[in-house]
Amino acid sequence: ATMPPLLAAIATAGRHGVLVKSAVVMEQLGTTTRVAFDKTGTLTRGVPELTEIRCLGTESSDEAILRLAAGAEHASEHPLARAIMRAAHRRGLDVPPAEDFIAQPGRGVSALVDGRHIRVGSPAAVLPAADENATAIVETLRARGATAVVVLGDGIPIAVLGITDQVRPEAATAVTALTASSGAPPVLLTGDDHTTAVQLAAQVGITEVRANLLPEAKVSAIRDLEAGGARVTMVGDGINDAPALATAHVGIAMGGAGSDLALQTADAIVIRDDLTTIPAVIALSRRARRVVL
Ligand code: ADP
Ligand code: MG
Repeated sequence: ATMPPLLAAIATAGRHGVLVKSAVVMEQLGTTTRVAFDKTGTLTRGVPELTEIRCLGTESSDEAILRLAAGAEHASEHPLARAIMRAAHRRGLDVPPAEDFIAQPGRGVSALVDGRHIRVGSPAAVLPAADENATAIVETLRARGATAVVVLGDGIPIAVLGITDQVRPEAATAVTALTASSGAPPVLLTGDDHTTAVQLAAQVGITEVRANLLPEAKVSAIRDLEAGGARVTMVGDGINDAPALATAHVGIAMGGAGSDLALQTADAIVIRDDLTTIPAVIALSRRARRVVL
């Protein structure tokens, strides 16, 4: 007996390194007209490095700031949190325990560390617009393509951290292939700031960028694209984008760094850490559909 074309395509996709969870998904992939990418952990490696610590007050040293920030980030699974934890460990700092940890998706975290209320998060969420000094530092870091994160102690900004993630080496190739096959270039959806996102998008050949999106806004962005007639395949790591993955016509989670929730709810999982598998499975689906339909 010959295997039905969609099941054969699932087997081939598996060999390419993508787990497609059903024949329905395998069929839907080929109808994609637009691909939406998350940034951190998807277009980037997701292993960002803390590259700068800019103290704002006179009270603190880099190391004191890093201890507090790492304490607050200890329980977060966000790639930015892990960058801060790695930097603290590399310097041999003992990370103090935290109480009352709260994560605000797309915004940051807060916790009680060493008796102080520490917040670590996006400038948009935590920095008062009137703080011109901190804002200038944030802009400088962003212009270099870094993600700026602000640390607050008891409500007062005490440092700005610059965190830089590397673009995946194959991202530009994947973007070119997707632009050619879907007729429309991919779009970048990110919770990060516009300046930082545009720097990264330019490196991979993406011109349409929607930035400063909270998780709910990523969902609305997908709905907007689909209301305009697009069939959207969304690719994300599931960290702050699980709802968008669930909303898109097809949601693909990055297997390596992906959150457990995303791996369970996504329609497909990229097992081999390579974005060129995405145009490959879309092409596979198109071929299988031509046999089936
Ligand atoms: P992306 O779309 O790039 O994956 P997210 O939506 O996960 O970004 O996060 C958006 C922004 O919120 C980050 O750029 C950062 O400024 C802030 N943020 C989110 N989680 C954290 C965290 N755990 N620690 C510090 N900042 C965070
Ligand atoms: Mg992400």
